[in-house]
Amino acid sequence: MANLLEVQQATKRFGTFTALNNVSIQVPKGSIFGLLGPNGAGKTTLIRIINQITLPDEGNVLLDNEPLQPHHVKDIGYLPEERGLYKSMKVGEQALYLAQLKGLSKTEAKERLKYWFDKFDITHWWDKKIQELSKGMAQKVQFIVTVLHRPKLLIFDEPFSGFDPINANVIKDEILQLQEEGATVIFSTHRMESVEELCDHIALIHKSKKILEGKVTDIKKAYKTNTFEVGLLADNSMQVYAELQDKFKVVPADFKTIDDQLKMKITLDNNLSSNELLQYLSNKGQVMRFNEVIPGVNEIFIKTITDNE
Ligand code: ADP
Ligand code: MG
Repeated sequence: MANLLEVQQATKRFGTFTALNNVSIQVPKGSIFGLLGPNGAGKTTLIRIINQITLPDEGNVLLDNEPLQPHHVKDIGYLPEERGLYKSMKVGEQALYLAQLKGLSKTEAKERLKYWFDKFDITHWWDKKIQELSKGMAQKVQFIVTVLHRPKLLIFDEPFSGFDPINANVIKDEILQLQEEGATVIFSTHRMESVEELCDHIALIHKSKKILEGKVTDIKKAYKTNTFEVGLLADNSMQVYAELQDKFKVVPADFKTIDDQLKMKITLDNNLSSNELLQYLSNKGQVMRFNEVIPGVNEIFIKTITDNE
C-alpha cells in the first residue's frame, strides 16, 4: 500500500535536550495510525513537525511523496493537544470563520456545519459563547472544525483526553467513519483504550525514539508466544493437570464456566503445533475451550517499553 505520509529520520532539539531522535514513520494511505507513547515521549513534537509548526533540526517529511510545503496545510486537519478557540466568540460564528479559513465558501461551511451540529445534537449551542461550554463541549466543536474541510490527512493529538467515556465513543465512531470515507488518520495517545479498536498501524515512541512500528496484526504475530487458553473437563483432573505440567508449560487461567473445568494457559515450544496439543488434550478429557492467546496492544506497549528501559 502506498504511503500518504513519510517522516524520514526526524530529529528535534530544544537547546541541549533532544525531544525527537532520528524518528521515521510510514503512514499508509487509508490507515488509522496510532502514535503511542508515555507522556513526554515526543509525540506532540512529531505532530507539530508534520503540521509545519516546528521545523525539524534534521530529517524530512513527505506528503504524497512530496517534501512538505506551506500549501500542504490545507490537506491536513489538525486537532492540537492544546485546544484553542476564541473564548468570547460565539460557537457558530467561530466555526464559520474557521471553516472559511480552510477554504470553504460561507454557504458550503454553513451546510456542512449544520450537518455536523445536527449529528452531534448541538444545534442549540450555535449562539452560545465558547466560554459557556465545558471543556468536552468545546472539544466537540473543535473536532468538527478539524474535519469539516474533508482533508485527506487528519491528525488528532490526544483526541480522547477531556472527553467522558460516552463522548470518547462518539469521537471514536466518527474517526472510523472518516476512515471509511477515505481519510487517513493519525492520532496520538498515551492511553491504550480505543487503540485496539481503532488502529491498523502503530508506532511506539519512547524517550524521543521510535521503538516499534508496523501493522498491528504483524506486531501481534511477532509478540505472540504460542500460548493457548484451555478448558478441559476431566474426571481425574488433579492427575491430568500434573501430567500436563510435566509435558508443557502450564499456568492456571481464569474464565467463567458453568461446570468444573481445568482452566489453564498452555505454552508450546515452537516445534509443537496446536493440533498436536489438541489431540493430546482430547485424549485426557472433553475439550471445552481452546483459544489462541493473542497479546493486546497494551501488553505489547508495556513490554516494549520495559525492554527498552
Ligand atoms: P508527548 O506529546 O509525547 O507527551 P512532547 O512532544 O510534548 O511529548 O514533549 C517531548 C519532550 O520535549 C518533553 O520532555 C517536553 O518537555 C519537551 N519539549 C516539548 N516542546 C518543547 C519546547 N518548546 N521547549 C522545550 N522543551 C520542549
Ligand atoms: Mg503530547
